[in-house]
Amino acid sequence: MSVYDALKRVFGFDDFRPNQRGIVEALLGGRDVFAVMPTGGGKSLCYQLPAHMLDGLCVVVSPLISLMKDQVDAAKATGLSAEFLNSSQGAVERRRVQGLLENHQIDLLYVSPERFAMPGFIAVLKSLKMAFVAIDEAHCISEWGHDFRPDYLALSQISAHFPKVAIAAFTATATERVQRDIVEKLGLRSPHMVRASFDRPNLFYQVVLKENLNRQLLRFLRDHPNDSGIIYRTTRKSVEATAEFLQEQGIRALPYHAGLSDAERKLHQEQFNRDEVNVVVATIAFGMGIDKSNVRFVLHGDLPKNVEGYYQETGRAGRDGEPAHCGLYFSQGDAVKIRYFIDQIEEPHEQKIALEQLNHMVRLAKSNVCRRKSILAYFGEQYSLPDCGACDVCCGEVERIDATEDAQKIMSAIYRTGGKFGAVHIADIVAGADTQRIRQFHHDELKTYGAGRDRDKRYWRRMIDDLLMQGCIVQSDDQYPVLQLAEKGMEVLKGRKPFKMLRQKESVRTVTVDVGDYSVRLFNELRAERLRLAREQGVPPFVIFSDRTLREMARYFPTEESTLRMISGVGEAKAAQFGAAFLAVIGTYREAHLEEAEEMSVLQVPVEGPKKKKPKGATYLETLELARRGLSVEEMAAERNLVPGTIVAHIEKLMEQGERFDVDQFIDPKKRHEIEALFVRHTTDALSIVVEASQGRISYEEARLVRAFMAQDAF
Ligand code: ADP
Ligand code: ZN
Repeated sequence: MSVYDALKRVFGFDDFRPNQRGIVEALLGGRDVFAVMPTGGGKSLCYQLPAHMLDGLCVVVSPLISLMKDQVDAAKATGLSAEFLNSSQGAVERRRVQGLLENHQIDLLYVSPERFAMPGFIAVLKSLKMAFVAIDEAHCISEWGHDFRPDYLALSQISAHFPKVAIAAFTATATERVQRDIVEKLGLRSPHMVRASFDRPNLFYQVVLKENLNRQLLRFLRDHPNDSGIIYRTTRKSVEATAEFLQEQGIRALPYHAGLSDAERKLHQEQFNRDEVNVVVATIAFGMGIDKSNVRFVLHGDLPKNVEGYYQETGRAGRDGEPAHCGLYFSQGDAVKIRYFIDQIEEPHEQKIALEQLNHMVRLAKSNVCRRKSILAYFGEQYSLPDCGACDVCCGEVERIDATEDAQKIMSAIYRTGGKFGAVHIADIVAGADTQRIRQFHHDELKTYGAGRDRDKRYWRRMIDDLLMQGCIVQSDDQYPVLQLAEKGMEVLKGRKPFKMLRQKESVRTVTVDVGDYSVRLFNELRAERLRLAREQGVPPFVIFSDRTLREMARYFPTEESTLRMISGVGEAKAAQFGAAFLAVIGTYREAHLEEAEEMSVLQVPVEGPKKKKPKGATYLETLELARRGLSVEEMAAERNLVPGTIVAHIEKLMEQGERFDVDQFIDPKKRHEIEALFVRHTTDALSIVVEASQGRISYEEARLVRAFMAQDAF
């Protein structure tokens, strides 16, 4: 069987994500693998597919015991024979798994790293036929990484104990140094190396000026009532406050932070995982354990300390590859607060690094460069397109306005006061404030005093930030930092260069990438069914089907198992286990909303053959050509491997676009008259009324055809 056949049969996917195929083939050929792939890149498939195809056992090392059960449930739902061994199990359960192992009935065994250090475990593995070992979160083996776990060091023995068994190491974060370290510690033998792009094209990045955060969050949530998402805040107190505010406003939001008891944290996480609550307000303590693929938004209520953290947290959105939104609410005050903490760091080198990281983050939030480009640049990756099309900068939500004159006011105040004063005082001068300091230094006698009375002080503070950002002025490193002109600022002050400032356009859209037409109502019903099944089986909903899969169902309205199998994400096992339940929901919905269902099926469900989405135009032209050759609806349907309803929908569309057909080619005249009469008698356009009134004599397609011809004749 080819890898593509296996991919379709087991996972129900038509194609690999980038790098997956290379990894799968390397493992099938017994070669070591080292892969850096971003979250959501589809790492698990890389080892699950070969584990299924190869003879022998694949051991998966995964650091989080709390996730293992979900991972195993997900693998089982896909039809893989998977089990786990960890300290949360009782002796009976462990013996059951051991029995299965001895009988070679397991493809995938998930274990924690410390198991390798346990006496006897290596011996058990040696008695079995091993296919390969997959190591998840492999960066945990490196002391150079941000997440070192001593337990992982036990894994360095694997290659010595099993010289013939391939090892595949996966991670979502690894610098060059960590990468070398992993390869060396695990003793990988000229591995197939993958360093995937860190670009997450389905994420939309947006930065919003923070004004009244809770209100801003509420507005976002009201606009996205059915979506799951995470709101990050820095402190426990702010987490509590935001969660409480949202609850008062009727939003079901739960808090998550290190101050809650273990049980509470676990409960809240589980409720989120199981779609029982849409929103979690959390500190960054909420993260590692989230395996949920349908997180639709991640909002940062406060500025993250560094780009790496920001990338990781936003990375939890949209793992299923569907559009997701990342909103950062930015205020300069946050940067100042973080700066304050950095100032407390005693070790100078550490302090310097922290400051550099903060500066990167602030630049990302404030610059007028594509956010995606900035993020990728941080990871040393160049984004080649001029415009990513999925961030606020590229979508023109922020604009650059000329602010040369205002910039000159600030810089003139700095210049005239000899570069000896800080930002607050300079802003006060320009805004014409009446402070003791201003009187003391006679700054109310300056020419620039009050030159900016028309704007409030906040505006002038922002202007100073922007001037700093763009290098027109510099701030000293002292305890009381003062502002001074830089060369670039001099140019602007002398009117030789313009100064442009970034400003948000009035209405801030919350944009999501277009996902094409689907029935939102059916999608919601499918979600409800998914939740019901998930509860019944005690697994998280995404284990059953992803949002993407449900959305495709709500787009193509499959009515039988054969067409259901064409939906991406519906493999053999899931079709067998869950297919009937979802088909029933689609069937019932279709009957109750015939009109809508027909509209949707314009998007063609081929009856057999591989599903390739052709451009809409091409399929109409094919139908048109057959119609011109005089074929009936049934003949066309047979010829094209489509259901008659789709052909009729094509004809209707073609007629709307001005094509003319001979009505007798498609329908018997007597029947046509009967149908016309029904439409007229009931003074309706609704197909369902006519079909119902005919008491079974008229099919839905027939009514639709006649309606199309009637509409044409009306002109
Ligand atoms: P990672 O572990 O890299 O974060 P996962 O293995 O959890 O990513 O996969 C993320 C999502 O992508 C899952 O919902 C998975 O079903 C989906 N996925 C993986 N490979 C493919 C593919 N080839 N086609 C479509 N969806 C895929
Ligand atoms: Zn962009």
